[in-house]
Amino acid sequence: MQFIDLKTQYLKLKEEIDTRIHQVLDHGRFIMGPEIGEVEEQLAEYVGCKHCLTVSSGTSSLEIALRALDIGPGDEVITVPFTWISSAEVVLLVGAVPVFVDIDPKTYNIDVSQIEAKITDRTKAILPVSLFGQMPDYSAINEIAQRHQLAVIEDGAQSFGATRDGQRSCGVTPIASTSFFPAKPLGCFGDGGALFTDDDSLATRMKAIRTHGGIQRHHHPYVGTNGRFDTLQAAVLLAKLPSFQWEVEQRGKIGARYSALLSDVCEVPHIEAGNTHVYAQYTIRLNNRDEVAAHLKADGIPSAVYYPKCLHEQPVFEPFGSKLGDFPESEKASREVLSLPMHPFLSEQDQDKVVASVANAVAKGAS
Ligand SMILES: *Cc1c(COP(=O)(O)O)cnc(C)c1O
Repeated sequence: MQFIDLKTQYLKLKEEIDTRIHQVLDHGRFIMGPEIGEVEEQLAEYVGCKHCLTVSSGTSSLEIALRALDIGPGDEVITVPFTWISSAEVVLLVGAVPVFVDIDPKTYNIDVSQIEAKITDRTKAILPVSLFGQMPDYSAINEIAQRHQLAVIEDGAQSFGATRDGQRSCGVTPIASTSFFPAKPLGCFGDGGALFTDDDSLATRMKAIRTHGGIQRHHHPYVGTNGRFDTLQAAVLLAKLPSFQWEVEQRGKIGARYSALLSDVCEVPHIEAGNTHVYAQYTIRLNNRDEVAAHLKADGIPSAVYYPKCLHEQPVFEPFGSKLGDFPESEKASREVLSLPMHPFLSEQDQDKVVASVANAVAKGAS
């Protein structure tokens, strides 16, 4: 059994993917070829947003967003300590200070009620993460941000395809970012990401930063980077997009089936009212997580821990003064979470094996 099955997806879409890749090999415009504009148009339409800019990774998209907002030394950006390192690493990359806010233990997303206490006159942006595949309350977050004149950047690397009150992830904040790393809900065959905004001037600026800070060739008004998405990867996404919504629905069904079978055994994902969940990770919670993971492994079932250590416990964030105990819900989650095999092609038979193994582990003494 595999944790994420990319092979089955490739075989299902092989003809379309191979054709699209060969079209790029034939026209030879590997950098910013016509597939880039084509996929950006489709992604913007899917999300319901005016501008989409594809970029070289989810991490570089977040960095470009911060640079476009002129965030740098002396500035603070609010984010969470329970996430992939990129969300706060980019704040360090632009020379600003990450300020952590603890998570809501039910959804693992930012605890919105704790944001305002962390805002200072140096705060420039709130960078919440839509962790594991569902969005936090962005209307409340946007409202706080507006009151304090802050930017909001959704880190939607794990939530592409998810909705809140009918609106899609990456379409509800002034700027949003996603990732096309192969294991994400919409993955390409390498690194990639995208930025979304309705704001024309921010879009122009982010576009310039993506290509060395230039708007015209050989004129560089901004500090930029090489953040372009590969044409070949755009071709892969174009082949995958027509079935993406079907995959999102499969993910939802498979996640719901896990929850129905496991809700008496362990704590299953809590979906907030108004949300749909894409289960980038199907994550359960157990007080003897490591024993259960070992039991699964002995049964030949892969599992993973996202994330075994909070960001404030990582050496790179030590200079910012947080200590163990500062973010109790994040720290507790990092000890208790376990993600199970999850992908749109997971069979009921395999799912039943996972469920039986978790149930046996828990009954054995575990929980
Ligand atoms: C994967 C991920 C990223 C970074 O995406 P890359 O494309 O790997 O750079 C950022 N934030 C979160 C929450 C992620 O899961």
